[in-house]
Amino acid sequence: MNGLMMQKKLLISSLIVHADRHHGDTEIVSRRVEGDIHRYTFRDCHRRARQMANALTSLGVKPSDRIGTLAWNGYRHLELYYGVSGMGAILHTINPRLHEDQVAYIANHAEDQYIFFDLTFLPLIKAVAERCKTVKAFIAMTDYVHMPKDAGIDNLLCYEELIQQSSSDYSWPVLDEDAASTLCYTSGTTGNPKGVLYSHRSSMLHTYAAALPDALNCSARDVILPVVPMFHVNAWGLPYIACMVGAKLVFPGPALDGRSLYELLDAEQVTLSAGVPTVWQSLLSHVEETGQSFSSMRRTIIGGAACTPAMLCKFQETYGVAVLHAWGMTELSPMGTICTMKARHLKMSLEERHAVQSKQGRVVFGVDIKIVGQDGMELPWDGATSGDLLVRGPSVVCDYFRNEGESPLQFDGEGQAWFPTGDVATIDADGFMQITDRSKDVIKSGGEWIGSIDLENIAMAHPAVSQAACIAAKHAKWDERPLLIVVTKRQADLTREELLAFYEGKIAKWWTPDDVVFIDEIPLGATGKILKNQLRERYGDFLMQPAERRRVA
Ligand code: AMP
Repeated sequence: MNGLMMQKKLLISSLIVHADRHHGDTEIVSRRVEGDIHRYTFRDCHRRARQMANALTSLGVKPSDRIGTLAWNGYRHLELYYGVSGMGAILHTINPRLHEDQVAYIANHAEDQYIFFDLTFLPLIKAVAERCKTVKAFIAMTDYVHMPKDAGIDNLLCYEELIQQSSSDYSWPVLDEDAASTLCYTSGTTGNPKGVLYSHRSSMLHTYAAALPDALNCSARDVILPVVPMFHVNAWGLPYIACMVGAKLVFPGPALDGRSLYELLDAEQVTLSAGVPTVWQSLLSHVEETGQSFSSMRRTIIGGAACTPAMLCKFQETYGVAVLHAWGMTELSPMGTICTMKARHLKMSLEERHAVQSKQGRVVFGVDIKIVGQDGMELPWDGATSGDLLVRGPSVVCDYFRNEGESPLQFDGEGQAWFPTGDVATIDADGFMQITDRSKDVIKSGGEWIGSIDLENIAMAHPAVSQAACIAAKHAKWDERPLLIVVTKRQADLTREELLAFYEGKIAKWWTPDDVVFIDEIPLGATGKILKNQLRERYGDFLMQPAERRRVA
């Protein structure tokens, strides 16, 4: 027997309809590529998203066509989030920090019909345009006045002209909620990027769950500034969440340096922000150097890479900004776990609470996790045993887009499908998960695992260290030993011996890195993560050289 309730599909268009109807005058503020600050409301955004849907229809876009974007966080990108997915086409956000060959590969693999781009990315468009075989036109996300002259690109269209020419008279179609809405390629460090194809239903369920109080705790009283890019897993879902709850949105555009971010956070009275640790590092340095403080920011979501205890402590204890440590993946839409306290944690000492908060946290509703050993058997939730982390849920990938290979899923003894994350983690008795490593980054010394994240966290707590990465370096006796690679803070004076002495008493002695390499810059990937494979290529043999020759090298 079916329930006797209204049938209403879970569709992304319902978010902007709701935001318009119930929070119509709530603001969306964007720093534009053109340099100025733009302001309008959810009502305006909805009107222009409908105009865009009409424009796309006139351009011949059909349901399920892929529409690429190479764009910063801004209001026009938001209009495409709703205009493209809402009309039944698939928004394909491309990461502009990828190498041009990968961008061309992705656009061809996705068979993008049109690509929208911010002017910043004109050189990239020029470099790939001829290679993008399925693209009918490139659309510059600007007005007529700022259109590039003599760009040398066939079929170059102007975003604002398309909007101007199109009526706002448009009714969002009632789509199948399982229809694809959005496509995002993972920026793996090896092999070609793989496409994760979200559906309206998976995105909506993710939005409901991620907004909950024990997740990101978003409300109509919030002002949200997503630093995390809209080209990286939908800015962790914040553009959808803001519409669902009616929160004001602030978009930083291309200006992601500490000073520009601080200006916007302060001027717009932002209460919640989100980004990877490397971005927060530059914001914290700016605030420290200028002696400023945060006038309105109450919470910051830190994810994409481990938040160090040092950063957590600085945000919370020095600046009064609560840290929400989160873990996720492109394959998870992306939220997997978020570290919010249970009632019993509130009674803990500050130090104990910080230790809990350094974990990646407990699952958001809909996600289930487990850790398994090499035999695939589930391991205990004791907070100490680490194993391969598996996940499942309605917002978890079941196959990659046009994947010609094997299914990425793994089946357990009961025939249940799980997605192997490639992360290694512990889970404690309260269900708090802690990532100890990526499986390919684990350091195996004499057959025992050493977690590189722990070693990096300790190095990052040293006042002279700006960035640290720990890799497995080949070792004649132990197969692999930890090698620490460090960038020091400006004008800081730090020796190898001082840094290694800093580990004393903090970990088992045999975990202490064998050596330290000081470098000027740590290589970062397209989503701000440390490229450990590059470091391994460069320094993997470092410990095989005699100690006296290492310093010379
Ligand atoms: P991506 O799909 O590019 O978002 O990358 C997902 C990967 O980033 C995960 O599998 C983790 O290895 C890593 N990651 C994400 N969040 C965290 C976190 N809070 N701590 C440690 N690693 C993280």
